Amino acid sequence: RTVFVNGEYLPETEAKVSIFDRGFLMADGVYEVTSVLDGKLIDFDGHLKRLERSLNELGIQKPAEFDDLLEIHRKLVADNGIEEGMVYLQITRGSPGDRDFVFPDPETTRPTLVLFTQNKPGLADNPVAKQGIKVISIEDIRWGRRDIKTVQLLYPSMGKMMAKKAGCDDAWLVEDGFVTEGTSNNTYIVKGGKIITRNLSNDILHGITRAAVLKFAREAQMEVEERPFTIEEAQGAEEAFFTSASAFVMPVIEVDGVKVGEGKVGPVATRLREIYLDESRKAGI
Ligand code: PMP
Repeated sequence: RTVFVNGEYLPETEAKVSIFDRGFLMADGVYEVTSVLDGKLIDFDGHLKRLERSLNELGIQKPAEFDDLLEIHRKLVADNGIEEGMVYLQITRGSPGDRDFVFPDPETTRPTLVLFTQNKPGLADNPVAKQGIKVISIEDIRWGRRDIKTVQLLYPSMGKMMAKKAGCDDAWLVEDGFVTEGTSNNTYIVKGGKIITRNLSNDILHGITRAAVLKFAREAQMEVEERPFTIEEAQGAEEAFFTSASAFVMPVIEVDGVKVGEGKVGPVATRLREIYLDESRKAGI
């Protein structure tokens, strides 16, 4: 696999980052994941805009190559022959020559830019989406700036492990009695045909797939309400689902051992997945 590190395309075995990199030592970095369908990038502009916002919020400089990011994405997709899969991009505050809590001088320490691809054949025609997944709920103990897409993913990773241990696929995070989001996705329920999802704030990541799916839902005359909901409300809903760039729209059929609706994939999630995949393929670049 060819990867990209700080201006260079290299075989993955030759790519290197310093042991003093602040991404490695302090999770001082941000990332984006863009899906590839039919060899094309999905929602690329949205991911780049959010990347820019994440960098601004943390005061990390744009790497010099920022304007070339589309070209780098495309070259990696082509060179690695990706038809369906992902491009992962990470920018950290860089690698000063030592460990220090104080941010390094941006004049001497440049941000680190890394990109690589992941080949995922069958990403769109995923059999899991036809079956639906099961989730558990866990307390949301993450920091208060979840709107910034940082590489600080230990708790979400632990949440997935807790779900796995419980025989489930993912965990929904709960704060003050309300679901914030999933470990790596935005969460939804359907009640009376209406789509309900938590409103945007610093409490959740502003999902690029969320924005697209809500736009398509409104265009299809489906009703949308943006407000927090509880686990009990989800358990009593007609349907539940989540969205993310790598899973698109994913039906959720069980929450904490309780079936949602009839415990089967519902029509709203199915339709939104179809619309999202159709429209995204058309708009892919
Ligand atoms: N919330 C969290 C915590 C996430 O990690 C992700 C995926 N990166 C999302 C939501 C979904 O965002 P997107 O649709 O942009 O992938």
